[in-house]
Amino acid sequence: MESNDSAIRMPVMFVGHGSPTNAIYNNEFSRAWAEVGGSILKPKAILCISAHWVTDGTRVTAMKQPKTIHDFYGFPQKLYEMQYPAEGLPELARLTEQSLSKVRVKMDFDWGLDHGAWSVLCRMFPNADIPVVQLSLDSNKEPESHYELAMDLKELRDKGVLIIGSGNIVHNLMTLVWQETGYDWALEFDEKIKQLILSGDHGAITHYKKFGRAASLSVPTNEHFLPLLYVLALQDKEDKISFFAEKVTLGSISMRSIKIG
Ligand code: ZN
Repeated sequence: MESNDSAIRMPVMFVGHGSPTNAIYNNEFSRAWAEVGGSILKPKAILCISAHWVTDGTRVTAMKQPKTIHDFYGFPQKLYEMQYPAEGLPELARLTEQSLSKVRVKMDFDWGLDHGAWSVLCRMFPNADIPVVQLSLDSNKEPESHYELAMDLKELRDKGVLIIGSGNIVHNLMTLVWQETGYDWALEFDEKIKQLILSGDHGAITHYKKFGRAASLSVPTNEHFLPLLYVLALQDKEDKISFFAEKVTLGSISMRSIKIG
């Protein structure tokens, strides 16, 4: 992997992270993450918006050494032993705060890297030699406010920062079933969002609730959907869009992963 010293505009990515076990299993998803990580210029830093960090107000991790958080229950012991020792980057936390000048951003010294971040990054960048900062999702904001806020992060793309949203377009844990494909409503919603991404209709994606039953079943709570809006908000007209995973599995989990730029 070459290093991005010449400040080439970085791509942005949305990763459908699914089960935390993707961190330890060699499967089609973890392989796709590894491949995309190896295919881009090495970022100077990573800013991750994870579905698993929802807060009252907007926060950004500002510690030098974020801890690996094992925020899940009932998984194999090996997963609890996983560490992702990437450093933090207080300068990026400050830069993020400055970029998001329209909202108050609180520096956070308590969080770290939750599994929405590290279960993907340990596959994408296994050497853990790129500093990582997390930005939280403000629970008080409507989807369109998240989208608007995210637009102000665009300048970071020119500073060697890889911005990754980590969630799932379809995420319903109440309807999980042990099968390789998805329910009709899950496939319908995933496909609808795919087509809207390709046509660039971000307004319709932001107002996903209008898609009725397929939307309410696919997005029963929106913390896994919102990271997608951050990534789309950072898209430029000339950016290429590609999908490096696009499967709905376990009935109601979309693993669709998107690279923009
Ligand atoms: Zn998750």
